[in-house]
Amino acid sequence: MLEKKMPVLFIGHGSPLNAIETNEYTINWKRIADQIQKPKAILCISAHWLKEGTAVTAMGKPKTIHDFYGFPEQLYKLRYQAKGSLKLAKQIQEIVKTVHVELDQEWGFDHGTWAVLMQMYPKANIPVVQLSLDYQLPLEKVVGLGKELSVLRKKGILIIGSGNLVHNLMQISPGSAPFLWAVEFDAFVKENVKKRDDQKIINYLQHPAAVLAQPTNDHYLPLLYILGAAEKEEPSFCNEKIIYSSIGMRCVLFGMKLK
Ligand code: ZN
Repeated sequence: MLEKKMPVLFIGHGSPLNAIETNEYTINWKRIADQIQKPKAILCISAHWLKEGTAVTAMGKPKTIHDFYGFPEQLYKLRYQAKGSLKLAKQIQEIVKTVHVELDQEWGFDHGTWAVLMQMYPKANIPVVQLSLDYQLPLEKVVGLGKELSVLRKKGILIIGSGNLVHNLMQISPGSAPFLWAVEFDAFVKENVKKRDDQKIINYLQHPAAVLAQPTNDHYLPLLYILGAAEKEEPSFCNEKIIYSSIGMRCVLFGMKLK
């Protein structure tokens, strides 16, 4: 029987506190999860696993990584206890032909994955694997890798990219209005995701605000995997606000319309 194709998502994850807070962003994450058929497994591509080369977590019980400092004690006690999936890891290794995919036994779930999934799938009863971001891979090839992953969508796998489309921690200013450059860069990304002008998204450094909006590209990269995994499907958006003046919370969904 042909499976219905799963949507693909980019989630703007923001602060690790979103793992436990109920706010307009986390409410939308839950809303998205509620509207998707239950995935057989989840592949998450998080901003927080940046390395040389491409790896996929392949352990049975991935650990919860607390890769942040200075947050309330409560956050460090949280564990997201979803299982891993060696089967899915091997499947990914097989379908990706353009780069070698290493089976990883060291990583686990970083907060780009678990803070989001704790809200979307609090029961943690769906197996999850993480794929690393390869900082050496040309962005064109990153989109190509995403395209190779797209076959998983027909196998009931939910692919999530987790980052932030505007992400400048040095410029954070709680309580202040968003910086103009933040608003402009976010609008640039939205417009080109809508038009599916992938070249513009790939060559984002040509945008005058890019260096401020993405001083390092780790939180931007997951979008490129997601674009590759999405076909020419119309995107829908939510969480369109810029918080703390310099963090864009935008989510992008392909293959489903958010109700
Ligand atoms: Zn982050």
